[in-house]
Amino acid sequence: MLISIVVPCFNEEEIISRFHERVTKELSFIGQDFELVYVDDGSRDRTLPLLEKIAADDSRARYVSFSRNFGKEAAMLAGLQHAGGDVVVIMDADLQHPPELVDRMLRLHREGFDQVVARRTRKGDRVTRTVTARAYYRLINRLVDVELVDGVGDFRLLSRRTVDAVTGLSEYNRFSKGLFAWVGFRTTTFEYENAVREQGRSKWSFGKLLNYGLDGLLSFNNKPLRAAVYLGLVLLSVAMAYAAWIVGATLVNGVETPGYATLLVTVVALAGIQMVMLGVVGEYVGRIYYEVKRRPHYLVAATNASLPRRRRWHR
Ligand code: UDP
Ligand code: MG
Repeated sequence: MLISIVVPCFNEEEIISRFHERVTKELSFIGQDFELVYVDDGSRDRTLPLLEKIAADDSRARYVSFSRNFGKEAAMLAGLQHAGGDVVVIMDADLQHPPELVDRMLRLHREGFDQVVARRTRKGDRVTRTVTARAYYRLINRLVDVELVDGVGDFRLLSRRTVDAVTGLSEYNRFSKGLFAWVGFRTTTFEYENAVREQGRSKWSFGKLLNYGLDGLLSFNNKPLRAAVYLGLVLLSVAMAYAAWIVGATLVNGVETPGYATLLVTVVALAGIQMVMLGVVGEYVGRIYYEVKRRPHYLVAATNASLPRRRRWHR
């Protein structure tokens, strides 16, 4: 059995060599064949030359380097596509995903699980991030069709057929957390203590997280559109009732000119609601726009890896 470790790397020069050392050490304890697939996501520091050196010194290491920064989603996809293993483990380059857990993942895989998911505790996170994450997951699970769990990230083991299923999904807007949940197969989750990033810094700013959250909401359901329809219907019935009331009142009391305030507030409120709903529709149209262009998810500028012959168990 061959284990592939997929590692997306973006500006990880401070830690990448140490990462390689740690992982190869931990994996050699397991006593299985393994390969490492590093994906350099357009790093602007010395990550690529370091990866080239790692690959020159260690034949188990391969790298794929993008022409620019395409984002972690694209990097993971490239890693999965270039991985030839019977099982694939996705792991961050910053050692926040403890390599010693791979052994435990493999044991669970042998018990018959296709996906083994490591769920991190939120220890060491800022309170604001913990709270917003909680609220977000409560909201998103009401809306989307797949189940998403707080603390579950991309650190997971996938069986070959799961990898093939995930790479077979060719959508442009990728939200991996959702995609992994969507493909299903037997899945199990275990918890581990979160390690604080030792070197370098997190690439997730608040703005990036907000956009990522919106992506999750919009790429897995059409409920916001449905909500727009319902809201429109509710407003329409309120307006009709009000109109009927005015007709009645006019018949009884004769013609009266009501205040401008009601009128103005109604107009402005309706305009606001329409703008928001137009935005919702626009988001979906924008997504369709990107999908129909069928642009590749990433461009490779340098690599020592070839795409493994695709074993298609699914499709
Ligand atoms: N990463 C990437 N492309 C990006 C941003 C991040 O490949 O545009 C990689 C990064 O090198 C790391 C992993 O994704 O291996 C997780 O990133 P980070 O540690 O910054 O995120 P956090 O752990 O704070 O969620
Ligand atoms: Mg990290």
